[in-house]
Amino acid sequence: MINLKELYEKIGDVRLIAVSKNVTSKEVIELINQGQIEFGENRVQEMAKKQTELASFGPKWHMIGRLQDNKINQLISLRPTLWQSCDSLKKAVAVDKRLDYKLDTLLQINSANEDSKQGVSTSQATEEYLKIKQECKNINLIGVMSIGANVDDEKQIQKSFEQTYKIYESLKSSGAKICSMGMSSDFMLAIKCGSNMIRLGTMLYK
Ligand SMILES: *Cc1c(COP(=O)(O)O)cnc(C)c1O
Repeated sequence: MINLKELYEKIGDVRLIAVSKNVTSKEVIELINQGQIEFGENRVQEMAKKQTELASFGPKWHMIGRLQDNKINQLISLRPTLWQSCDSLKKAVAVDKRLDYKLDTLLQINSANEDSKQGVSTSQATEEYLKIKQECKNINLIGVMSIGANVDDEKQIQKSFEQTYKIYESLKSSGAKICSMGMSSDFMLAIKCGSNMIRLGTMLYK
């Protein structure tokens, strides 16, 4: 298990989301005991399970994975702190229809334009963001999320982060405050490119 104090010093003001999708509630508690509050899960079912098991510790939950239509009601009932993986206007509308409170949300951008990844393309992102804002009154869009290019070439990863940051900057005047990018293998590069929220999994539990 990592020493979070050293990591917090290294990342400064950047908000750390500890991704717990591959660990048990017991390991989440070890991080909570080191001061970590916000955790990310990519499956609604698993978030529900950990939320129940850890209720007395008061962690906050971020949804970071693909949201299936048949899981929308359950996600809403869990009241996540942030839905980071809104990947289309269509999905936003489907969630908005069922929401009876305002849900803080990020638009996921497929910044490396990879077929394997969800998210809107870089060319569509700004337009899609503004449409969601206009059409979905309970989706409170407050920024963007992206996964860096899945390649070894650091230049290419950097390019995907720069693309996301550019879109984020252009949306600041429309209320964007969060630029969520950076995972275990590339978070320092992401921070250099302007990220203010990183999502770390594997490296925390080694
Ligand atoms: C799993 C996951 C992470 C964490 O990845 P690591 O490489 O384990 O740090 C971050 N973001 C998303 C969307 C994920 O699915």
